[in-house]
Order: sequence, then C-alpha cells, then structure tokens
Amino acid sequence: MAWNGVLGHDNIVHQFLAALQNGRLASTYLFLGPSGIGKRLFARTLAQALFCEQSSPAELNPCNQCPACQQVRAGSHPDLIQVSLEDGKSAVSIAQIAGDDEHRGSQGLCYELHLKPFSASRRVAIIDDADYLSIEAANAMLKTIEEPPPGALIILIGTSRQRQFPTVLSRSQVINFLPLEVDQLVEILSSGLIDDPQQAETLASLAGGSVERALTVSDESFLETRRDFYSTLSQLNFDLPSFCKSLDDHVKNSGKAASDHRNTLRGLIDLALLFYHQLQLKLIGTEIQGDNTMLSNVEQLASNWQHDVDSVALCINRCFDAYEQVERNANRTTLIYDWIDQIRQVHLTGRL
Ligand SMILES: [Zn+2]
Repeated sequence: MAWNGVLGHDNIVHQFLAALQNGRLASTYLFLGPSGIGKRLFARTLAQALFCEQSSPAELNPCNQCPACQQVRAGSHPDLIQVSLEDGKSAVSIAQIAGDDEHRGSQGLCYELHLKPFSASRRVAIIDDADYLSIEAANAMLKTIEEPPPGALIILIGTSRQRQFPTVLSRSQVINFLPLEVDQLVEILSSGLIDDPQQAETLASLAGGSVERALTVSDESFLETRRDFYSTLSQLNFDLPSFCKSLDDHVKNSGKAASDHRNTLRGLIDLALLFYHQLQLKLIGTEIQGDNTMLSNVEQLASNWQHDVDSVALCINRCFDAYEQVERNANRTTLIYDWIDQIRQVHLTGRL
C-alpha cells in the first residue's frame, strides 16, 4: 500500500490514523531513521492531511487537489513552518528557532508556531536535521515543546536517538522509520526516477533501503568513481595523497550543502565496506558476489594479500569509525585522509 505516495511505512500510517481517530495526536513527534527513506515526505504528507480542505484530518487522506494540499506540496502553505540546516552551516541555529539577537522571541519557528493559524485550524512545524540542533536552539525550543499552542504539531526529523538532546528526546513521541525493503525501493525508483528496470534493481540492492542513496549511486560520475575506487583498493600499496585528493574532490563536487557531502561520503564508505566484506569471503574460500568491477578487483587484492583474514576486519572496523565521524560532521578532508591512511597501513602490514 502506498499512502499518498509514501511507500513502505504502513504501520506508521496506521499509528497516526488511530491517534487521529481517538483524538490522541501528540503535540511533538521525533521521526528517527536513516536518511533518504521518506521521513520528510511522511511529515509533509501528514501536514497535508491535517490541512486538506476536502477531507477530515481523521481520514488521513489528503485530496491533492484543494488549495491547501497544493500549497503544502509547493512548500508555501502559510501554516506550515519548516526549518532545516542551512547551506554551509554546521548547526540549526537559535536564530532559526527563536529569532536572532535583535528579534529574540519575535521571530523564528517558536514565535511563528504561536501565531494564530492563517487558513488552517492549526499550525505545523517541521524541523529537519534535528541531529544538528545547536544546544541553544534545542533549549530555546523546550518551552514550546512543553506548552505548545493549542492544536500545534511539531515534527522533528533525525537519524538516531544518540544524536538528540535528552531534553528533546524525553519530551517527544519517538517514531522509528525502518529502511525500505528492496522491492519497495525498486517500485519507487521505477516510478519515474530510473528508466531501466534492470538498473533500478541493481541500484536498489546497493542502496541500503534509501532512495537518496540509490540516486547517489546511479550518478555516472559515482560509477566512474566506484571503478577508480575499487581499482585503487585492489592494490596492496597505493599513492595515498593522490587517492585522498581524488576522493575529497569527488565529495566536494557532489553538491553545495553539507548534507550532500555527508551522503556522498557515506556512499564511499559503503563501497569500501562491501569490498572488504567480499575480500573476507574470498580469503576463506567462499564464493563472492557482485559485478565485474567488484569481482575482478577483490580477486586481485586477495591474490596479493599477505596477512590473515582477521586483518581484513581491521579495514571494516576502520570504515565503521569513519561512518561515525561523518555522523559527527567531522572535517571532511581530515576524515578521508585518516580513514584511507589506516586502510593502507592494514594493506601493507596487516596491523593498525
Ligand atoms: Zn486537499
């Protein structure tokens, strides 16, 4: 079942349907789960259902036709307040939540949420990138979360519990979104995003349940980077500075926003994880899987590997460390250098 274009989160749709029908909609929700699986789309569709002029909120079935529905879809509904991490910034700021120094308390999300609704019966605020709330911003929000204006709905969107302030976490109803199943991902990709059905299947299998990730790996420059990446990793020794620079350039050129860079970097780390997992299998004599690029490069490295199979786990652990550093928004260039430097050390010595 697809709920108004939202695929794969039926249990959560039912949860909201029940809450609305019983008049038990909470005032603050925290949507958690990997990026690119539909949390933001879900939040906007929920807002649309609440604002729709043709169907009652308890039906959770927006018409997509009325002015309110169209305004939500266009991002211009006057009662929908949206805040996200701004380009080039490392945090969602207190100015976005409570106004800048000169307008503290008379601008920002909390202020707007307290205004009388313009055209709907309530106001809805969506805070994307809740992982990046500054502590001042989070603190400024607490009072509004504790005593929201009547009917107001606040939806925070983040990736994990660990990234949230306990004060916000404890005052929100947490909704956990799971990664999409491969066939759900194929369905989404096939509905106008990827023309070739075969390619949609391949991408879905590589994407870890995320539409965003599938689209990243479908990019031709990414496929080229993947070929170069595996061809370099297939060697025991490689030129560290030039490899790191090519990866850094690839990440830097993948978009303007910090979130684009993080997604691309996560994609590269995933590639390395897949590669070393296949290397482990190859070294213990198990059949390995993947396309020609994967197979030929893993076989090349396996034939030259001079250490025991356990040493490969060091590379895998190092990838997980790098992943955590991405989540902490660590400096991109340093992160890439440290990550690849240590992988190269394992290639050469079998140790860290
Ligand atoms: Zn409508």
